[in-house]
Amino acid sequence: MNRIYHALSLSLLLWFSACTAIISPDETSEQHDWLQKESPHITYFYLPGSLAEKDIDYIMKIQELAFDHILKKLDVHYSGPIRIYIYNEQTASRALVKAGATGIAHPETESVEAIYSSNLKSIGRDGVAAHEMTHVIASVTLMPSHVKILSEGLAVYMDDYWGNNLHDITDLYVWADLYLNNSELPTINNLIHHWDDYESYMTYPVSGSFVKYIYEKYGYDKFRNLYIHADKHNIDELTADIYGIPLDSLESQWHHKIVSYTDHNIRFY
Ligand SMILES: [Zn+2]
Repeated sequence: MNRIYHALSLSLLLWFSACTAIISPDETSEQHDWLQKESPHITYFYLPGSLAEKDIDYIMKIQELAFDHILKKLDVHYSGPIRIYIYNEQTASRALVKAGATGIAHPETESVEAIYSSNLKSIGRDGVAAHEMTHVIASVTLMPSHVKILSEGLAVYMDDYWGNNLHDITDLYVWADLYLNNSELPTINNLIHHWDDYESYMTYPVSGSFVKYIYEKYGYDKFRNLYIHADKHNIDELTADIYGIPLDSLESQWHHKIVSYTDHNIRFY
């Protein structure tokens, strides 16, 4: 099994979606003869003969819906274009392989690298379309955040969905409830300071659940204030200033929401 296939097989199993990377897609994509198509806010690069070529019109439709959704939820103006480079397991870029990821955002070049194949899709499908574009749009219009519970939580919440092969769960609150019931739910403090100590199949849906809660309970203005100004060192004090309660009280309220939650996941498209 070659290295690329192995990395992506792992990512398929764990459904890991990555975040900001260092390598620009321009450096990794020169070897390909890209086909190119544009929707109002996004330019797509895809390979001849790929599934992406076959499905490109549908991909464009889904990604534009997700783009509009992100702008509304973030209350920002942004016209793009975001460039999306679409690979499959065999053609994956060095950056994707290095990260063992299915998607990577490059806010510095307003671009995204993604996988689209019959087995694995990190764009072009309801439930995954918003994630990487959220990293780009939030970084460009708000601020690049280095507090992963906020940046990844926001990206996951924009899709309001998390799925993998380990459990038949897609609702963010149900994911958090699973870990809470198993006494595995990381504390907010640990997610802030020790993110990499936990598996991505836990950190991503849990952070998405927390961001969903504080966004929907206390509103976007407070969340935006926290997102823009928080770092690992000031987030406790800043949370108390913005929300009027300590972070651990906010965490307790979120736990209560998780255990009392009975609604179904409501999709946005
Ligand atoms: Zn991410």
